Parts: sequence; C-alpha cells; structure tokens
Amino acid sequence: MDNTSKQKVGIIGGGIMGISLGYFLAKQGIKVTIYEASSVLGGLAGPLVLEDGTEVDRFYHAILSSDNHLRDLCEELGIGDQFRFKETRTSFYYKNSLHPMNNIIDFLKFPPLGWIDRFRLGLTVLAAQFTKDWKTLESISVQDWLLKWGGKVTFHNIWRPMLKAKFDAGFDNVPATWIWSRLVRMKSTRAGANQKEMAGHLVGGYITLIKALTEKIKEFGGEVLLKTPVKEIVIEEGKAVGIRMVNEEVVNFDKVVCTMQTPVFQRLIPAANKAYHEYLSKSDYLGIIAPLLVMDRPLTGNWTVNITDDRFPFTGVIETTAYIDPKYVGGHHLVYLPKYTAPGSEWQKKTDDEIKQIWSENLQAMFPDFDPSSIKYFLIHRERYVEPLHGLNEIDLVPEVKTPIENLFLATTSQIYPALTNGESVSRHARDAAKIVVANRAEK
Ligand SMILES: Cc1cc2nc3c(=O)[nH]c(=O)nc-3n(C[C@H](O)[C@H](O)[C@H](O)COP(=O)(O)OP(=O)(O)OC[C@H]3O[C@@H](n4cnc5c(N)ncnc54)[C@H](O)[C@@H]3O)c2cc1C
Repeated sequence: MDNTSKQKVGIIGGGIMGISLGYFLAKQGIKVTIYEASSVLGGLAGPLVLEDGTEVDRFYHAILSSDNHLRDLCEELGIGDQFRFKETRTSFYYKNSLHPMNNIIDFLKFPPLGWIDRFRLGLTVLAAQFTKDWKTLESISVQDWLLKWGGKVTFHNIWRPMLKAKFDAGFDNVPATWIWSRLVRMKSTRAGANQKEMAGHLVGGYITLIKALTEKIKEFGGEVLLKTPVKEIVIEEGKAVGIRMVNEEVVNFDKVVCTMQTPVFQRLIPAANKAYHEYLSKSDYLGIIAPLLVMDRPLTGNWTVNITDDRFPFTGVIETTAYIDPKYVGGHHLVYLPKYTAPGSEWQKKTDDEIKQIWSENLQAMFPDFDPSSIKYFLIHRERYVEPLHGLNEIDLVPEVKTPIENLFLATTSQIYPALTNGESVSRHARDAAKIVVANRAEK
C-alpha cells in the first residue's frame, strides 16, 4: 500500500489555504473532509452579497500578472480564461494633492522629493531587487535600512507616515525584510520595457478559484462542509486522532490539518503541551478595519493611493474597479479604505457608526470635491488576525507544518515568509504543505 491510498485527512478551514490543500491531497487519492465554520467558503478572500444582489470581494484582492502558480493552477482547473489584467495607476497623497507614480517621468517629477532624494528612492528600490539573501535583512530594522538607502528626507516624507499608518503599535521591531518583500513583489507587476503596472482578478473574484477547486475535490471523492465549526482537535497520547464538533460528535481521521491563524489553532488544541502553546503564542498578527464604499462613480481612478500624511486614519485608498471592469460588479465602483490595527487596538473597539463618521470626515478632508451622494453602500468589515508579523531576528518563530503532535499538521499564513501572504503564496504553500502531510506516515 502506498502512503496515500485510503488515508483519511480532516482539514479545518475553507479559505484559500484549506481548499487548495484539500485539492492537492485529494488529487493524490487521499480522502479529505474540509470543515468550514462559515456559510460561505473563501475566508478572508470570500465574497459578500450587496443589498442589490451583486457579489463583490469583502476585502480588496489583486492578482498580479507574475502570479505564476495561480495561473498554472487555474489552467489545470480549466478556468485559465477567467483572468482579466489591466494596466493600473498608483499615486501618492502628499500635502493635499495626488502625485502620480507610474513611470520614470512621474518619478523624475515627483514633488515630495528633490533630485538627490528621488535618486536615493530609486536606489532603495534597486537595493531591494539586488538583495538576493533576504536573511541578511532579518537583523536590520526597516527604519535603519530605509534611512541607509533613501536618506532622511525620503524617510520622513514618504516612508515614515506609511509605516506609521501600517503598524498601529509602532515599527521599531520590524525587520528590513518587510519592505524588501513588498518592493520585490511590486516590481514584479511592472511588465515590459515601459514598466507598466499590471493588476488583475478572476471574473467573480477568488471565489471562482475556490468553487473550481471544490468541484474537483468532490469529484475525487472528498467532502466540503459549510456551517461546520470544529470545536477541538482530539489528541490522545500525543497523537491527533480526530476532531470534535460543537455538538460533541467526534470524527476520526488518520491525520488532521489546521489552516487557521495560530491564535485560532491554539484554541482548538487545549490538550497540546504548554511548551508548544508558548511557542505558538509568540506569533503576532496585524488586524484590519476595512470599510468598503460601493459608489456610483470612480473616486480617483487609481488602483492604490498611498497616503504619506499621518493625519488620516486609513493606510491607503484602494479602488479595485481600477482593474475590475465595473460590469463584473453590478456597474458599481469599489473603494476600500483600510486601517491596519494591532489585534487589541483601540480602533477595533470603535463601533461601526463611529468608524463610518471618522472615515467620512477624513475622506471629505482628503478630497474636498468628494460628493457623499456618490456612495450607495458604506460597509464596515474587520478582522483580528490578517497579516502575520515577524519581528527582528524572529525567523526561529516560524512554526513548522509538521507539529510536535503526531498526525497533526498546521498549514498557516505565518509560515509564508519572507514572501507576502496572498492567493499566490497561500495556494503555493498549501501545495508544499500537502507534500509534507503525505510524506509523514500516519502513526497508529
Ligand atoms: C484587506 C486584505 C487585503 C488583501 N489583499 C490581497 C490581494 O490584493 N491579493 C491577494 O492575493 N491576497 C490578498 N489578501 C490576502 C488573502 O486574502 C489571504 O492571504 C488568504 O485569503 C488567506 O487564506 P487562508 O485560507 O490562509 O486563511 P482564511 O481566509 O482566514 O481562512 C480560514 C478559514 O477558517 C475558517 N475557520 C475559522 N475557525 C474555524 C473552525 N473552528 N472550524 C472550521 N472553520 C474555521 C474561517 O471561517 C475561514 O474561512 C488580502 C487580505 C486582506 C484581509
């Protein structure tokens, strides 16, 4: 008997990680059952139905033309023709106006910086592209690295306000790897000699991919269960033997894989030893408050407006209909105004009405011509654990897929490092995690 046949694997979480993992395992003959707490699949990348029946992304999601794993996977599933890519624009909001930053001409004219500082900003981007061994950046703070390459003016006019907005609890402990991975990913979207920025999506959003994977999992004999929260992973004598549902029913599995963020995983393994809990507790995350404005017209037409002004609570203005043709989202224009927060942040304690009021006032201050009647729906979404955070010299805190508990595996976003967590890297990680799950014999 090979290592895969007749194995029963329980997967907890029906986001991109859980569903991709289910597909990569089921494809090899493993019998998978996926448990999803919510009534819809997709997790953070899931959809939301507007009052008028239109389905849109709850959070903003772009796919880049360089996302090769996703493109190959969609080809394999027969949905490769569902990608749409478009040239997009990015601007910086600085001293009450928008400054485009899309090509070398914009760069050469960029008002927040003088000649020398523009040159040094260019040098910073190049320094990131030429850094091949990112581990050398793990012990340098993001501030020191940006000051070294870009100098004081660029740091104070551009980087500092952006870092302040991103890291609610400060950025002293953030390694240079953080900005390195972002600069490298953004550079990868700029196609061709003219360096045009390309962003895209699947028609319908990531849920199109998730539905296609789910269909295949079912064809391979697997199950995908909605509204089925797992209460606990049953651990007996140091081995995971199954899962306990909220109605106390226990389902036995040869192996169990949890795909949620580590604080959620910890709640499911009360029987795991203290040392493992202490280790997992060191994983940190940023949360988010991300109001979505569904509008009847474009706001700025830019995919991203980076805000270099710390008077404003939001980190950026993200207009996904800059690359999603509004015809795919009921003719609406979608603008997200995210604010990243520490999980216990005071911002997370504000009510939706308070957020709505603060955001509206700031939007009006930022764009004095903005007409509030252009907003059809103003929806507030928030999550506590969104982006894994890694501190200076904390590479040893990245948890392994194979946990110290026999037959129990963890495939989670904090293991994706130094790459950014997005559909591309999450699904690729799920494929790699599936290999680890298969390679380990189930201990009886
Ligand atoms: C604001 C924002 C912007 C983003 N922008 C982009 C982007 O532009 N491009 C991009 O590719 N990616 C982007 N991402 C990242 C992407 O959404 C995530 O990396 C990805 O969705 C993570 O998937 P996951 O499966 O690891 O986790 P999750 O999506 O969190 O899935 C976990 C699932 O587990 C379920 N669950 C929790 N507890 C239980 C339980 N007890 N029992 C059963 N099920 C349970 C949850 O309901 C959820 O469905 C963005 C994310 C956010 C929040």
